[in-house]
Amino acid sequence: MRRKKKITIIGGGIAGLAAAYYLQKKFGDEITYTVVEKSAVFGGKISTTRTDKFIIEGGPESFVTRKREAYDLCIELGLEDRLVGTEGSGKNYILHDGRPAAVPTNPIALARTPLLSGKGKIRLFKEPFVPPRMETSDETFSTFISRRLGAEAADHLAAPALRSIYLADIEKLSTAVSFGRFTELEQKYGSITKGMFSSMKEKKAARKASGEAKPKKLSPFMTLRSGLLELVETLTGRLTGDLLLETAVTAIKKVEDGRYQLQLNNGRSLDSDIVIMAIPTFAMADLIAPHDGKMGELLHSMPYNAVATVTMAFDAGDVERPFDGFGVVVPKEAGIPLLACEGMSIKFSHRNPEDQVVLRGFVGGKGHEHLISLPDDALVALVKKQLDNIFGLKGEPTISRIYRWQPATPQYAVGHLETITAVETKLATLLPNIYITGSGTRGMGIPDCIRLAQETVSKIDLIFG
Ligand SMILES: Cc1cc2nc3c(=O)[nH]c(=O)nc-3n(C[C@H](O)[C@H](O)[C@H](O)COP(=O)(O)OP(=O)(O)OC[C@H]3O[C@@H](n4cnc5c(N)ncnc54)[C@H](O)[C@@H]3O)c2cc1C
Repeated sequence: MRRKKKITIIGGGIAGLAAAYYLQKKFGDEITYTVVEKSAVFGGKISTTRTDKFIIEGGPESFVTRKREAYDLCIELGLEDRLVGTEGSGKNYILHDGRPAAVPTNPIALARTPLLSGKGKIRLFKEPFVPPRMETSDETFSTFISRRLGAEAADHLAAPALRSIYLADIEKLSTAVSFGRFTELEQKYGSITKGMFSSMKEKKAARKASGEAKPKKLSPFMTLRSGLLELVETLTGRLTGDLLLETAVTAIKKVEDGRYQLQLNNGRSLDSDIVIMAIPTFAMADLIAPHDGKMGELLHSMPYNAVATVTMAFDAGDVERPFDGFGVVVPKEAGIPLLACEGMSIKFSHRNPEDQVVLRGFVGGKGHEHLISLPDDALVALVKKQLDNIFGLKGEPTISRIYRWQPATPQYAVGHLETITAVETKLATLLPNIYITGSGTRGMGIPDCIRLAQETVSKIDLIFG
């Protein structure tokens, strides 16, 4: 009988837990596995606080369903009845002259928006006639949007959204990692506008031809009734391997027969045939550097940002200028210490009592990292002042909760995908059967992390050595 292979998953965020789940599903009792998590809880950035009245999300608050992996995993785990779709207008706003201006989503709204000048609008409408770029190498998202839609669209529409949603600098962000679909449309159809219409038509025609049923229409964003932590709790409940909390892997030693010995911070060690690192790239760097200094440096040099989320609830009557949007993003030019504000109670009302308006402010990002270290009272006061200027808040918050994420999310620089591929190629020969996955590699949303976990597990073969 073949010896059971031992697998260690380093990192108990959604990527590590999903990897453990898909390993268990693929190999059953052919393996034994251990998930090693440094902190006292599983979930990583997924962190939900539940009080008797509120469900407060500290990190992610929902997932997109356009990428199906998170939705599909929830269904597979039997969570269908626990899924909640968004409510409300679905509108998003950009702060303009101190007030929220709706992000235009159709040609009439675009013609009317104060966010672009007449010249900027004409340039944007010309997108279908702009010739495609012949080169396929990665470029910054700023260059891509400026090329396709004009500099105004890049500066006044895309930049604020990226600064707030991706906590990223449009001048540096790689198009390939997060917006590869747009470059594909440009390459295939010559334009994003033409591409969106044509690909929609093609999909419809292909579905008709194959007789396939129309896929179920889903709310664009979903969460779970008790918060996203419910996904983490359900996943960990299904895992039959060893799950270690408050345990960090501090070093990886190569031992005989191509196996590894993982040093833990509690003085113990774990023998492993296969290792999956589902940790931030700087943490991968610490473990890989002793084997290859250059690769360690490369992984260490990948930047991360820092952010704090400050959630506050107000009595509905205390909000002078009621808000119907999912969020307001703040352009850099506004010069205020707020990156964005999310309308948490508007997006999903089950998370709070009916008479409460819940807003979540984002603070930090490039050049403002110091704000995250402000004492709690000062941070709440700072965010409240900014929200007051926008919405007119008469009373004090009925509840407030701060989460500090330092580091928060990776900043994918141009060429990031090539670098990750180079690291994986080098690892395959230098440290065979050690894999990297998770948000540091090829996508940071929850569905991305689940897809990356699936892809990593699909590469693993137990017949070696
Ligand atoms: C404020 C904020 C809001 C967000 N909003 C959304 C959203 O609405 N929707 C969405 O889809 N995504 C959102 N994201 C992104 C998403 O939450 C993350 O990209 C994703 O959860 C990352 O998962 P991960 O498993 O790759 O990494 P992490 O969640 O960072 O998990 C990595 C884990 O590894 C552990 N670890 C590190 N080093 C070691 C070691 N040496 N040994 C053992 N363990 C170790 C860490 O403690 C951590 O728990 C948001 C992120 C942030 C910060």
